[in-house]
Amino acid sequence: MSEHQPVNPEPDLRELFATHHLRCTRQRRVLYGALMATDSHPTADHLFQELSRRDHSISLATVYNTLEAFCRAGLAQRIATPSGSARYDASVHNHLHIRDENSGVVADVPEDLGKRFLDAIPREVIQQLESHLDFDIRELKVELVGRYRPDMRQ
Ligand SMILES: [Zn+2]
Repeated sequence: MSEHQPVNPEPDLRELFATHHLRCTRQRRVLYGALMATDSHPTADHLFQELSRRDHSISLATVYNTLEAFCRAGLAQRIATPSGSARYDASVHNHLHIRDENSGVVADVPEDLGKRFLDAIPREVIQQLESHLDFDIRELKVELVGRYRPDMRQ
């Protein structure tokens, strides 16, 4: 992938938005395009900083409200963080995240390792939790938290 390939600022998202019953505005297309184009799990503020350089009419409140609308429509997921600034992800499939507790950076865990990790959680423990808590557990959401240590690489 070339770093210098221009990202289409307004991908055609009309059909996708219509499927999810979302009103399709130019700002929404630009914002969703920017969210899809990154795997950095940006905050509303990050996206506002990026988009306001091109579009002076966009406000932080609009960015925040639109991201929340994407989440409600199932087009994005919200990742809560201890700092209070949620991060957003256009990948809505269940995948694991790892958060650097120093920088707050959130990254995706490689899919195969994430799946192996979740699959390794003993089924009988989940069943015990279900009966102990009178709960039907439908989904496991795990966040890994640690400190980025590139010196650990061999
Ligand atoms: Zn992610």
